[in-house]
Amino acid sequence: MTERKPPQAPVTIVGGGLAGAECAWVLGRAGVPVTLVEMRPGVPSAVHQSGDLAELVCSNSLKSDDPTHPSGILKREMEALGSLIIAQARAARIPAGGALAVDRAAFARGITEALEALPTVRIERREAVELPDGDAVAATGPLTSEPFARALAMVVPRDLYFYDAVSPVVALDSLDTSKMFFGNRYGKGEGDDYLNIPLPEGPYAAFVRALVEAETVPLPVHEKALFFEGCLPVEEMARRGPDTLAYGPLKPVGLDRRAAAVVQLRQEDLDRTAYSLVGFQTRLKRGEQERVFCTLPGMERARFLRFGQVHRNTYINAPLHLTPDLRLKARPSLRLAGQITGVEGYAESAATGLLAGLFILQERMGTEPSPPPEGTALFGLIRHLTRSDPARFVPSNITFGLIGEGARARRRDLAEHTLALIRRWAVSALPAQFGGRS
Ligand SMILES: Cc1cc2nc3c(=O)[nH]c(=O)nc-3n(C[C@H](O)[C@H](O)[C@H](O)COP(=O)(O)OP(=O)(O)OC[C@H]3O[C@@H](n4cnc5c(N)ncnc54)[C@H](O)[C@@H]3O)c2cc1C
Repeated sequence: MTERKPPQAPVTIVGGGLAGAECAWVLGRAGVPVTLVEMRPGVPSAVHQSGDLAELVCSNSLKSDDPTHPSGILKREMEALGSLIIAQARAARIPAGGALAVDRAAFARGITEALEALPTVRIERREAVELPDGDAVAATGPLTSEPFARALAMVVPRDLYFYDAVSPVVALDSLDTSKMFFGNRYGKGEGDDYLNIPLPEGPYAAFVRALVEAETVPLPVHEKALFFEGCLPVEEMARRGPDTLAYGPLKPVGLDRRAAAVVQLRQEDLDRTAYSLVGFQTRLKRGEQERVFCTLPGMERARFLRFGQVHRNTYINAPLHLTPDLRLKARPSLRLAGQITGVEGYAESAATGLLAGLFILQERMGTEPSPPPEGTALFGLIRHLTRSDPARFVPSNITFGLIGEGARARRRDLAEHTLALIRRWAVSALPAQFGGRS
């Protein structure tokens, strides 16, 4: 039995991103005093642009909201447990077919204000350079600042890495929309959320060639170009073969059957002033991005509000170093949450923050932290972090495979099933605010 900690013992959370903000919300709502340490805006990161908490650094989409899709199932489970991130995503939602896309500024502002309004949460704007004492959660993300990364490296190696890229954003008033069309794949949602650029065979082939030949920003000479398979740079996909893009982010299915490929642009903000190029995360040099992307019809005079860029993400070998309740084996008072653990994606990162908070609450109730039941998406993330082969551990989004055997086959009623499991878990293992009895 875990030693019962005083319910009012403070918790320090380092990093006010997706995971840290979600964790602070869980603990703060349950009356646990939280100090949330966030280095921005005083110390900027390489990709964040504001001082707000939970800023989305690249795409403004939290991926599919479809309850028959793993990502949609994860969102519903998080919602059932009172997720701040999903609630604010719904509040700041902008139309994007079946995806849960948000106005990124409104989303981050909403989360910041919600946490600022909680009397139990104190937000300290400073860079943490040491591991915190007492109960703590490190949620410093893929771009953890160097001094904190060094402190962490004293107890756990963060020697795994991959490169992740950001896609460009362009101003709507600089586009010639007469050469594009509004529409969603398969007419989902309102039907006109995306701007689409159809490409016939010849122009598509020329675009792929230009991408392959364009100059990229070099990576450090001693490092292999390891990319996350689910989010490859667009030029990297083009290099894998002439049809890769046409079967990937530029697939024309559900949009224009006559086109060889369709480039999609997704609305970025509620006022519809900006659009991001879907699947165009890139490490092309800035001048090359302008040169190559502006060959697309309607993009000839595109004004770039943000250029694509590439960043090194590091994470730990979680199956070696983490317990199923997200503690570091080498320093059990410290939990890890977010992308640093080896999950990938906004919702997945937030989900581990939510779980870290719930595990701390379980301890405060004097019970052994119990992970969510097998067969749920939340358990699937814990399974990935603790039961993967350490020799081949790479970050993962939530997938049917992680949810469990037979999950794909029963996708129609899977969300209902996993929600029932989560509610049963909440009743037996969580405090009253989260659906429990006590
Ligand atoms: C370039 C890039 C592009 C990505 N694109 C996508 C995408 O399109 N879609 C997607 O789903 N996922 C994407 N990801 C992956 C991942 O989902 C996000 O990085 C996500 O924000 C991770 O959540 P997190 O809470 O772990 O980290 P973050 O959201 O990055 O939060 C970490 C926080 O910790 C703070 N911090 C860091 N060090 C310190 C310190 N020493 N002291 C105090 N504060 C500190 C940072 O300022 C930041 O606010 C991308 C990642 C990167 C790096």
